[in-house]
Amino acid sequence: MTQPPQLPGPDSEQIAALVGSTTQRLFYGFLYRRRANPPTMAELRFFVANALGEEQSSTDRRLRELQRYFEIAEVRSGNQSRYLLQDWSATRPPHAGVTISLRRRAEVLASQRCAQCGRTPFEDHVKLVVDNKVPLSWGGDNEPENLQPLCEECYAGKSTTSVRSKPTLSRFGHQLAMTNRKSASASC
Ligand SMILES: [Zn+2]
Repeated sequence: MTQPPQLPGPDSEQIAALVGSTTQRLFYGFLYRRRANPPTMAELRFFVANALGEEQSSTDRRLRELQRYFEIAEVRSGNQSRYLLQDWSATRPPHAGVTISLRRRAEVLASQRCAQCGRTPFEDHVKLVVDNKVPLSWGGDNEPENLQPLCEECYAGKSTTSVRSKPTLSRFGHQLAMTNRKSASASC
């Protein structure tokens, strides 16, 4: 089952939480929009200088910063290299992208109840955390429909069974199908 990588849009909440600065987000946006026709180093430098107003020499640093989270392939074409934003990086930091804005975090936790066991901080003194139903590494995102409040115990149980060991395809296949259906109907 090969699906095209689900990369976050340049204006998405996820990319804002991930890369932080507006400048870095614009740089990501440039690579994102040019995936069908990846830019050469000369074009990247031109963009950095003219659209971002920075020294051309900061291009390498901007690329390296993005490569912490994304796989940017160097594709040879003729005598030039082109830089293709390909996918999430397989080696990105484990909590990359789990950063969710405070506002969204508050919205998710507003129910004050664990979505799995139903316990609450007030009655059961559990601590709630924000969980990605479909993990980011499986193409999940930080949009509200993929987030749920879980108590720390359920969260830990989920990560031992599904993230640290290899998740079973059926479970996540099902969740992914549900998510895809939801987003398909939302976009109509
Ligand atoms: Zn729970």
